[in-house]
Amino acid sequence: MIAIISDIHSNLEALNAVLDDIKNRGIKKIFCLGDIVGYGANPNECVELIRGINCKSVVGNHDYGVLGKESLDYFNKYGIIAILWTKKVIKNENLKFLESLPLIIEEKIKGKKVIFSHANPKSPELWEYLFPDYVDDAFDCGDIIFVGHSHIPFVNSEEGNLLLHEGKIHLDGDKKHLINPGSVGQPRDGINKASYCIFDEKDFKIEIVRVEYDIKKTYEKIIKNGLPEWLGERLFLGR
Ligand code: ZN
Repeated sequence: MIAIISDIHSNLEALNAVLDDIKNRGIKKIFCLGDIVGYGANPNECVELIRGINCKSVVGNHDYGVLGKESLDYFNKYGIIAILWTKKVIKNENLKFLESLPLIIEEKIKGKKVIFSHANPKSPELWEYLFPDYVDDAFDCGDIIFVGHSHIPFVNSEEGNLLLHEGKIHLDGDKKHLINPGSVGQPRDGINKASYCIFDEKDFKIEIVRVEYDIKKTYEKIIKNGLPEWLGERLFLGR
């Protein structure tokens, strides 16, 4: 069993709730699809948690923004304020960790080419969004492709969307699949619970899991640190 998490966005309460859920299920192997930082008030704590567990991670566009590798022109005004704030508070050792992350991880799992990427793996540094109804040519890149970035949890096959929001599904071993585990720290599918997914590589199953966390606490930290109120409000809405 493998857990895949993404788009944590400095939300410590959500990350702790998800990591507890993963631990309670006895899952030891975790992949992270990037955007560990940005938007929220606990960038150092979130990076340190990821550094401290058995987790292979790729880099996301907000991590790139904080590293100064991505022009701020590509972010909305709330994203820019949060990136500038994160640059001020992040510790050097945590920046170095973000800098060490690759754009893509490729693994062979049960004979399948499995890809982990923040955005469309075709050109990951272009940060192209993929959605349940827009997958571009991502299927060219592997057999099972995990992406984040849109904060919308879904499972697609080459024939279209199979699962949204939450639940379990068997994968067809003869088809390719594109999976977004949703966002740990800023879900945007209208459901305000943290989202991640579990890949059961033996039974060839995917489960999208939703986990409640203390949104009020996260909101209050965002306000206390002078970050835009909308970044806290949207957590209650799951938007
Ligand atoms: Zn994100």
